[in-house]
Amino acid sequence: MTIGNLRLAVQHLAFVVLTYGAHFKISLGAYVPCLSCPFIGSCSGGCYLMVFQRSMGWLFLPLAQVFAGAGSWAQVWQTFGYFLGGFAVFAVLVAILGKSWCGWICPFGLFQDWITWLRRALGLRESEILDRHKRRLSRVKYVLLAYLAVSPIAVSFGWLSRDFVLAFCNICPAKIIMPVFTGDIHHLGLNGDGARMVFSVLIMAITGGMVVGMFFKERFFCLVCPMLALINLLSRLHLLRLVKDPMACHGCGNCRRNCSMDNETIYRERVSSRVYDPDCLGCFGCSESCASDRSLSVALGPLRLFSSSRAHAARPLSKAGPS
Ligand code: SF4
Ligand code: SF4
Ligand code: SF4
Repeated sequence: MTIGNLRLAVQHLAFVVLTYGAHFKISLGAYVPCLSCPFIGSCSGGCYLMVFQRSMGWLFLPLAQVFAGAGSWAQVWQTFGYFLGGFAVFAVLVAILGKSWCGWICPFGLFQDWITWLRRALGLRESEILDRHKRRLSRVKYVLLAYLAVSPIAVSFGWLSRDFVLAFCNICPAKIIMPVFTGDIHHLGLNGDGARMVFSVLIMAITGGMVVGMFFKERFFCLVCPMLALINLLSRLHLLRLVKDPMACHGCGNCRRNCSMDNETIYRERVSSRVYDPDCLGCFGCSESCASDRSLSVALGPLRLFSSSRAHAARPLSKAGPS
């Protein structure tokens, strides 16, 4: 079995478990490091961004009360403890699978892959994004992470309306798209008034733009996804990761050609074994396509789970979906 086929099977299994698991009494908590959206009624494990936004609000609420002359420091420390507890669970999950939450588990990532397969089935070519535009787009994920972290804090100090507690969820395309797979369409369309109406217009416009972007560019939303930014901030912890032996690399360029995110870092690295690209999704397709023996490996801590080889690369490798 190829890595590509195994990945395909895991992605679809994860989609079914995370999207419909609650029907079967599966409960995987609220700290899942990918866009498994809790706005789906039958979601079995919720996207941590929702808890993160809420807990940023809770974290600073007692502090705002202390500044206003009410509340106590004991409450501040207690809330801080709750926040750290939740973040620790998230960090452990990120440490175990690293970026493979994106490449192997994320239901919204798989949705993007389905759109890519549709484009390929229609015989349409993928659009190219110039490097300088890609670098700019890639920074947006950190801006969105700052926006979703700071907005709930501003709410707890009374500087923004409560509609900003879930500031990112209010504009997240996964909230619109993913519930549709369970027959729930009530997030579609415009509703509410004031800030809610503004968010409602924004989310529909962003979702429409993102779907067009995903159609012409594989995993377009991943480029700007704040969950990937948060996973990147914990990069030192990742146990499951890509490792390169630069001495073994023959420079064939297969890794660059076969990367869904057009990453060049892995190809260009000629010195260090640590290859890390902020936009990498941990799919490991590059290691499978590499035609140099042991040049690229998938490692879990000190263990090598898979190493590239000329013989493996010569096999007909699966593309993710119809080509
Ligand atoms: S970067 Fe892509 S795959 Fe990863 S959590 Fe975001 S949407 Fe999902
Ligand atoms: S709306 Fe988006 S950010 Fe919010 S919980 Fe759902 S997937 Fe996560
Ligand atoms: S660099 Fe390799 S592991 Fe990362 S997204 Fe590209 S093909 Fe996948």
